[in-house]
Amino acid sequence: MPEQEEQEREVDATAKLRGCCCGDPYASLPPEMRPKAAAKKDGLRQVTCPRCGLMYWTNRKTDLCVHCE
Ligand SMILES: [Zn+2]
Repeated sequence: MPEQEEQEREVDATAKLRGCCCGDPYASLPPEMRPKAAAKKDGLRQVTCPRCGLMYWTNRKTDLCVHCE
């Protein structure tokens, strides 16, 4: 799906512009150059809480942070 790929790259660029590299030392690298372990460690994923906008790492299915859950 080329369209989806394009979108993901845009998100990456946006994150870079905001200087958001907290917790991800490979944020400035293109996804294909990141070590697999860093891209997905213990099933953790970075999410933004839809209610308060907090960005955090979680391995849960919900995007809500612990404060808003
Ligand atoms: Zn929240």
